[in-house]
Amino acid sequence: MAYTSKKTVLLLRIQYFCVSLPHVQQTKPFITDMTKRERYEAAIDFFSETMPVAETELHYENAFQLLVAVMLSAQCTDKRVNIVTPALFEAYPTAEAMAAATDEDVLVFVKSVSYPNSKAKHLVQTARQLCERFGGEVPQTLDELTSLPGVGRKTANVVMSVAFGQARMAVDTHVFRVSHRIGLVPPKATTPLAVELELVKHFPEALIPKAHHWLILHGRYTCTAMRPRCMECGLARACAYYNKKS
Ligand code: SF4
Repeated sequence: MAYTSKKTVLLLRIQYFCVSLPHVQQTKPFITDMTKRERYEAAIDFFSETMPVAETELHYENAFQLLVAVMLSAQCTDKRVNIVTPALFEAYPTAEAMAAATDEDVLVFVKSVSYPNSKAKHLVQTARQLCERFGGEVPQTLDELTSLPGVGRKTANVVMSVAFGQARMAVDTHVFRVSHRIGLVPPKATTPLAVELELVKHFPEALIPKAHHWLILHGRYTCTAMRPRCMECGLARACAYYNKKS
């Protein structure tokens, strides 16, 4: 099961930054008339070079722990989730163990994440349903996953992609923003579902799980919401937002 250590994350960021720098010299001339296919190819080339390994930054050791971590990460940072999960997983290592807990028991461990009361409640309810309906295992289909309390399409897609290697594209705020800025999706794709369907249609199937992390990590560290670091971005030459702005 994938596990990204702090050291690995740091190395990835250094590698990403170092490989990106030479591209700064290449931000002109701009490519203003790229086709969508060319834009996807530019993004795939860039990310393949700068982030050959792209994984979740959440810490987990099995599908149950990943599901719990992803549920906790809604409206919260992965960093914060990684602070609370070691003690939580030690106390409740399996769905069976968490199913026997009360909301208050779990709340003690997750009180520093956002929306702790509802998340504690959903974690216990989900653990109980995993035991009652799925033999204590995490199911692998969208319908089954989204039938669990507190599990929406985005969480289900992350679990299906990361834990089970399925070609699913979870669209969070970073994926949504970065996809629009680069020009991978049209302006009319105004919902996470519309963006998901567009990205899945154009990224090669085998790359979809990795592309999800490419877009998240790029949005988290370079194409940030308020001040995108375009002058350090190796994608500037192919970016619709940057070319329009310049
Ligand atoms: S050039 Fe700027 S807006 Fe475009 S992807 Fe890079 S950081 Fe984001």
